[in-house]
Amino acid sequence: MPHPDVMEKLVSLCKRRGFIFQSSEIYGGTGSVWDYGPLGVELKKNLKDRWWHAMVRARSDIEGLDAAILMHPRVWEASGHVAGFTDPMVDCKTCKARFRADKLEDAACPRKPSKHPGEHGDCALTEPRNFNLMFKTFMGPVEESASVVYLRPETAQGIYVNFLNVQQASRQKIPFGIAQIGKAFRNEITPGNFIFRTREFEQMEMQFFVDPASDHMQWFEYWKAQRMQWHRSLGLQEDRLLFHAHTPEELAHYARAAFDIQFDFGGTLGFQEIEGVHHRGDFDLSRHQEYSTKRLEYADQVNNRRYLPFVVETSVGADRTTLAVLVNAYREEAVAGEEEGRVVLGLLPSLAPIKAGIFPLTKKEGMPEFAEKLASDLRPHFPVFLDESGAIGRRYRRQDEIGTPWCITIDGQTMVDGTVTVRDRDTLAQERIAATALRDVLATRLP
Ligand code: ATP
Repeated sequence: MPHPDVMEKLVSLCKRRGFIFQSSEIYGGTGSVWDYGPLGVELKKNLKDRWWHAMVRARSDIEGLDAAILMHPRVWEASGHVAGFTDPMVDCKTCKARFRADKLEDAACPRKPSKHPGEHGDCALTEPRNFNLMFKTFMGPVEESASVVYLRPETAQGIYVNFLNVQQASRQKIPFGIAQIGKAFRNEITPGNFIFRTREFEQMEMQFFVDPASDHMQWFEYWKAQRMQWHRSLGLQEDRLLFHAHTPEELAHYARAAFDIQFDFGGTLGFQEIEGVHHRGDFDLSRHQEYSTKRLEYADQVNNRRYLPFVVETSVGADRTTLAVLVNAYREEAVAGEEEGRVVLGLLPSLAPIKAGIFPLTKKEGMPEFAEKLASDLRPHFPVFLDESGAIGRRYRRQDEIGTPWCITIDGQTMVDGTVTVRDRDTLAQERIAATALRDVLATRLP
């Protein structure tokens, strides 16, 4: 069965509950730029922490890096972005809208949204022109062409230019990798679909350097498998994930092989790329060596060789994966014996922004004081939310909707024996646990 289109409902939930707001909303909003609110920032941070842990902390062969957004302008000449980081663009002379010439089938005609641009009789599309996606700005107090710098359109170049710095400082031997998380900027012609395609976004990239004389394709296969496994570990449903091999037309001229990991966003958006795994050969390092005139070869002291390594890159969007996680988690379901159904975000507990809601059943008999103490005992260990107001059913619903895995209720029995009820978001099962044991019990349930 096809997955339903939940985007509109998700956009509204994200705003209402403080996951994601449109940037500069009070001024009418900025096109395709989004701000993460209190819950969204936690969700995205949990996702990034998971990536950092899997790619850097849990491995001895990958080093972390945090390179600057602004780089020497020659970097982007060497990388090929100044000359070739373009998308074909067409304008409609009738409605003045601008579209990506290669994505017309994904766009709607502003005058007749049921048609694609060019399909409506009044459309007057220009010939495609190349449009560079890099944002330009000026470095220093003088605005002249000599001081033009770019906002980086990808984080990878910060890794290439630091390849030898990191290798020598960390004394890593090939094969090894360098990873970083950071902002990237692209002046996309047709952004949209909420945080799927935005003009400012975060990437999590890793470049793995291998000996060209070794079986480098084995590393490519290794990283493909590792990265798919990582997406599965987020709880993304098996039937929503697939590999897409780049066709010869899609393959960048320097790439030896490239696969996208695609996720099914449901509705008309369907399967779309969330991560790219690319075998880039020695293209980037050889270009930087040529443009900077600095040697970037690796010195293999064991075999007494010097060479430019090949690179296998894994590149995933933090925002696009956050959207995949939200789409994957959203569900509406009926509740036995109740008229109103519930909306649930079935997030993996370790990704959920809040781990437990804490509810005193009534405002009497010392229950609020007990709940406050429990919340302040747990808070240094997990994000918890104390909710004292409203019917208990409504309090449950509020937590279900934001993906909180457990709700803890303090009731009359608590005041007698110190136990509380713990309700599971997905099974709705309730169990009694001693309040003093909660911290350990919840910790074991946070995969
Ligand atoms: P697309 O074809 O969707 O524009 P791409 O092939 O240009 O993507 P890459 O350059 O390989 O993307 O970037 C790696 C990852 O960065 C993508 O898989 C995606 O998750 C993320 N990404 C790229 N562009 C954007 C964007 N404009 N907004 C949000 N995330 C993005």
